[in-house]
Amino acid sequence: MIDERVRLEVGVATAQAHRAQNEDSLVAADGVYLVADGMGGHDAGELASATAIDVLRTLGDDATPTTTDGVRRAVAAAHAAVRQLPSPSGRRPGTTVTGVVLTSHGDTPCWLVLNVGDSRTYRMAGGVLEQVTRDHSEVAELVAKGLVPADQANRHPRRNVVTRVLGGGASEVEPDVWLLPVSPGDRMLVCSDGLTDELSDARVQAELRAADEAQQAADRLVAAALAAGGRDNVTAIVVDATLIRR
Ligand code: CA
Repeated sequence: MIDERVRLEVGVATAQAHRAQNEDSLVAADGVYLVADGMGGHDAGELASATAIDVLRTLGDDATPTTTDGVRRAVAAAHAAVRQLPSPSGRRPGTTVTGVVLTSHGDTPCWLVLNVGDSRTYRMAGGVLEQVTRDHSEVAELVAKGLVPADQANRHPRRNVVTRVLGGGASEVEPDVWLLPVSPGDRMLVCSDGLTDELSDARVQAELRAADEAQQAADRLVAAALAAGGRDNVTAIVVDATLIRR
C-alpha cells in the first residue's frame, strides 16, 4: 500500500541497444520499482526477467505485506517461478532483480531496497549519489578483497559473472534487503548493468543532477549509456520522493 505521506514522481526508460533482444524487464507502479536483467540465451533471458517481475509486482497489491519478510517470500516465489521455465539452450535461465518498494516502518515512510545479482539501486540525497546495493558478482568480490581497484571494475573481463541470481542452479536464493527512511528530496535510481558498465558513478550523478524531472533524468541516463557504446540492454527507473506535511 502506498504511504499517503509520500508523493512520488517516476521516470522510466529502457533500450535494447546493440543486442538482439531486450532481456531487461521492469515494474514501476503502486509503490514497486524494480528492474530485472535476464540471461540464458534464445528467448530464455527475456522470459526469466519477465517472470520474476510478474511475481514481484504483487508487492504492490494491498494484500501483500511490504515487510522484509514479505519481500523475502516474494523473492522465493519469483525464484521458484523462474526455475520452472524451460532451458532451451541447455543452460538454466536466470535473472537479477533489484529495486525499491515504498513501505513504512512504525510511523516512518521507508524505502525497502532489495537485491539479487549485479543490477543496482542507488540513492541520491542532497545531490550526492550513493550505491545502496552490493553487486553479487565475481568482480565485486575481487574489489572487496582489494584484488581489483574499484575504478577498474566496470572494465574487468569478468564483470558480468554474477554469483547470485533468481533461477539458475541454486535451490534457494537469499536477497539482500535494506530498510531506509525516506528523506525529503530523495532520488532513487534502479538500473541494469547496461547503464553502469557504460557510465561511471560520477557521470551518473552528473546526469541525475542535471535533470529536474524524474522522466528527464531516466531519459538522459539511457541516452548517455547509448552514446557511450550501448553494448548491452539499458534500463533506468528514477523515483523522486516528496514528503507531504499534514
Ligand atoms: Ca545486462
